Amino acid sequence: MAGEPQADCLFCKIVAGKVPATLVKETETTVAFRDINPQAPTHVLVIPRVHYADAAALAAAEPVITADLLRVAGEIAAEEKIDDHGYRIVFNTGVGAGQTVFHTHAHLLGGRGLQWPPG
Ligand code: 5GP
Ligand code: ZN
Repeated sequence: MAGEPQADCLFCKIVAGKVPATLVKETETTVAFRDINPQAPTHVLVIPRVHYADAAALAAAEPVITADLLRVAGEIAAEEKIDDHGYRIVFNTGVGAGQTVFHTHAHLLGGRGLQWPPG
């Protein structure tokens, strides 16, 4: 069924507590944890507890949870004190854009200068 946990999904395993992660925040609908290979001083992944392959699929099926995800990312940006200088929320979508885990995740990046346009 749509949104159900997938046995072969790394981030479903993190949601279930079967794979350890450095948790930053948990809500009823989301889990946030530090990226294992950080690309900035603050690099947090914010994911929905439900499984959808990417941000657009999540938004189509679960608009309220999508809003939760963005709100939580903003809350963490404030808690990590990266909101003054500025931060970036990224959803890599598709292999060509660098997506490697096909469970929706927002990258929250900050704490250093962020170039525009991104690579
Ligand atoms: P993507 O490349 O799909 O946009 O992002 C996947 C992210 O997950 C990468 O930044 C990668 O470093 C991170 N990642 C991959 N495996 C793990 C893991 O086991 N634990 C954590 N905390 N992050 C992971
Ligand atoms: Zn999943």
